[in-house]
Amino acid sequence: MSKLANKIALVTGGNSGIGLATAKLFKEQGAQVVITARSNETFEKAKQEYGAQFDVVQADVSKIADIERLFAHIKTKYGKFDILFANAGIAGFSPTLEVTPEYFDNQFNTNVKGLYFTVARAIPLLNKGSSVVLTASVVASKGFAGSSVYSATKAAVRNFARSWTAEFPVEDIRFNVLSPGPIQTPIFDKMGLPQEGQDHLGGSTPIKRLGKAEEMAKAALFLASDDSSYVVGAELMADGGFGQI
Ligand code: NDP
Repeated sequence: MSKLANKIALVTGGNSGIGLATAKLFKEQGAQVVITARSNETFEKAKQEYGAQFDVVQADVSKIADIERLFAHIKTKYGKFDILFANAGIAGFSPTLEVTPEYFDNQFNTNVKGLYFTVARAIPLLNKGSSVVLTASVVASKGFAGSSVYSATKAAVRNFARSWTAEFPVEDIRFNVLSPGPIQTPIFDKMGLPQEGQDHLGGSTPIKRLGKAEEMAKAALFLASDDSSYVVGAELMADGGFGQI
């Protein structure tokens, strides 16, 4: 049986990696899916490749005007919606002594402020019984050299789910967090981490491999659907055990 029949879902960063795999699974499970892509270039590419499956919208979440345009579109086209997978984000690696103010701001503007205002602007448009899933990371709760800024952005995301759970009635919206471990997606290439380094990272987890975007999609589906109806304000570690060592 379809787990998301008659649901409308928004997946930010749905044009790549974990977001794309999740958008596909949500669609397979019966949802109508809106995805976002950040730039005009990635938007055009996504529209061409996935325009038949998804409603593709250009939105850079670090720009408030883009977030507002995204929700104006959703309001006009769908009225209200049911599932938000707030997944858009950037990774970053920089030893602390090399962190620049620009790097710091970019990380926080995208991963923290961008996600915060995506959710804040979504809330008035969510139907009763909605599910919001926020993408954090295993490094939100694990020390990782070179990751002080990125880890802090993801720790903030984890905390948002707790505050929002306290602030909004659970019967209206359930907030949960998905914390992936190292997953094979374009994010590592964007960071300039060669395949050898990616494999080393995967090999250093208890499961001894990188995760797959499709594995994260299944975890996101669990949190987005009624299968997780008693899971509230929680963090699902989908990390191959990386957070345990
Ligand atoms: P990808 O790089 O494949 O996907 C990232 C997505 O986020 C892209 O769709 C990208 O859009 C979008 N995005 C980035 N910045 C912005 C922005 N300012 N506005 C709108 N969209 C933006 O990586 P993943 O799929 O791996 O990452 C998805 C999430 O998972 C991220 O939040 C990441 O931090 C988190 N994560 C990933 C891990 C991994 O090992 N892969 C581990 C732990 C957490 P575009 O392509 O248009 O630039």
